[in-house]
Amino acid sequence: MLRYKADVRTLVYMVTTTGLLIAQWVVGYVHPVLFPLSLFMAVTVAVIAHNHNHLPVWKSRSLNHLTDYWLTLFYGFPAFAWKPTHNMNHHVLNNREGDYTITWRVTEGNHFFSLMSYPSISSFFQQTPIKGYLQHLRKKDKRSFWLAIGQYVALAAFVGVALVIDWKKAVFFIIIPQQFALFAILLFNYVQHVHANEESEWNHSRNFVGPALNALLFNNGFHTVHHERAGTHWSLTPQEHAKIDHLIDDSLKERSFWWYMIRTYILSPFIPKFRTKSMRIERIRQEEEAKRKKAAEAGSQAVEHAKVFSLGDSRIEEEVAE
Ligand SMILES: [Zn+2]
Repeated sequence: MLRYKADVRTLVYMVTTTGLLIAQWVVGYVHPVLFPLSLFMAVTVAVIAHNHNHLPVWKSRSLNHLTDYWLTLFYGFPAFAWKPTHNMNHHVLNNREGDYTITWRVTEGNHFFSLMSYPSISSFFQQTPIKGYLQHLRKKDKRSFWLAIGQYVALAAFVGVALVIDWKKAVFFIIIPQQFALFAILLFNYVQHVHANEESEWNHSRNFVGPALNALLFNNGFHTVHHERAGTHWSLTPQEHAKIDHLIDDSLKERSFWWYMIRTYILSPFIPKFRTKSMRIERIRQEEEAKRKKAAEAGSQAVEHAKVFSLGDSRIEEEVAE
């Protein structure tokens, strides 16, 4: 029934996440082990939602729709929204102008404040394509429209009922993990693209190539290859990445996610060598330099022309005088 056997891991993760909610609800307080674990599992739900959106887990359509609903409840946002914001926009424009999740909308910098403000700003701008997509579905694909609306309803009912039963438990065991998941996945998008060169064939994304993060998060560190071949199953991305690894600039291959985060967002204000260099700004600088050179060359040619013409003019004048 599964498209790829490897997705047994996806199911284990989802069952664990669901089990953690039940366990915490029964325990009734913010448990020092269960709560952090539930935050981590919420992040994995966001990653699974991304994977399932690109390549659905099941062969059966109905099971995929059910999984969309399951993911929606733990991800904290309707799963269908990946389509207009991610597949149809981000994967097409890849951090270029018009990408609603663009990393350089407010600032060209890459620092703690740009990182922390990015998820909220990005979420705000993503509501436009979601609205447009729903309007499109309402006219062209009624079934998908109602499936999408159903996800909003299921999410609202899930959170609403939980709040009514016990608002404190609902906040800590459902709402906070959901918000954490949404924040984390947008933060991943930011670090995977910020200061890369969106116009480059191979240097448009930052990759986290260490084994630990990729083992825990379904190989989601290999981002260049994901953009090149978004339909590739997550279990196959490491071997696909290996084929193009030599084409990617070394500065866009980070072994450790955490060392990148600590270095770039905490230490870099004090240690300048830890600041990332913007490949995008460097490309713009080179383009402007080339334009200036071209203009200067055109200018000097014009001067040469003018000289020749003025020589010609003076000769003509002399001839006329004679
Ligand atoms: Zn993607």
